[in-house]
Amino acid sequence: QGVLFLCATPIGNLEDITLRVLRVLREVDLIAAEDTRHTRKLLAHYDIHKPVVSYREQNRRQMGRHLLNLLMAGHRIALVSDAGMPGISDPGEELVSLSISQGIPVVPLPGPNAALAALVASGLPTSSFCFEGFLPAAAGARRRKLQELKGERRTIIFYEAPHRLLESLSDMADIFGERQIAVARELTKKYEEIWRGTLPQAVEHFRLHSPRGEFTLVVAGAREGEAEGTRDEPWRGLSLQEHVA
Ligand code: SAM
Repeated sequence: QGVLFLCATPIGNLEDITLRVLRVLREVDLIAAEDTRHTRKLLAHYDIHKPVVSYREQNRRQMGRHLLNLLMAGHRIALVSDAGMPGISDPGEELVSLSISQGIPVVPLPGPNAALAALVASGLPTSSFCFEGFLPAAAGARRRKLQELKGERRTIIFYEAPHRLLESLSDMADIFGERQIAVARELTKKYEEIWRGTLPQAVEHFRLHSPRGEFTLVVAGAREGEAEGTRDEPWRGLSLQEHVA
């Protein structure tokens, strides 16, 4: 019986890999990696010698079918991405659902993930949160998405590329207003930094400090009634009697 193992790998610091992931990478028949060169460096660091094939956005249909055939023929395959959990803003989701549809066991091996690492260090509520991945690159679509999220009460996590950070922060400041944000940069790496403040302050800060590296943004959810516009309409939320009085 084939098995698909979803192996979390470091998001920067090479020490962040579990003993179980290392063992499984040594035991499987094949490793499917987003970028084979990147993963070979990780494997070389741990002296792991296994065949590696590329499974990435551009070849996921064709390679997905190939991997599924191997799994159905009894191969044990480890899926890894360039960083963190495969399937989280990385290829994986489709291979997982294909495998499930064919009755192949799918085994997650938890480990590093930028979204959760940023969330727990953000200082914002962790009991209820949502993950939005990358915002659309086009300004109009990005602003529409943020408008949709304006009433979201849960803490919201985004990934963002450095060259789009400032635009996204400006749009968030415009649409969400004075909310708290934690900007987690280069987590687990040498220049790790977690900047905390309000959205308008974040815009000022990153205007002066040009964004470099990898960023995860954790934004406070809306306060009660914020989306319905209670600030402009203070009568909202009052009982009819209070309103009339
Ligand atoms: N699968 C990965 C995970 O589990 O975290 C995420 C992959 S996604 C393609 C890459 C994005 O994650 C980056 O653009 C950045 O937004 C975020 N990210 C990855 N590593 C990070 C780090 N060390 N510090 C902060 N954010 C990071």
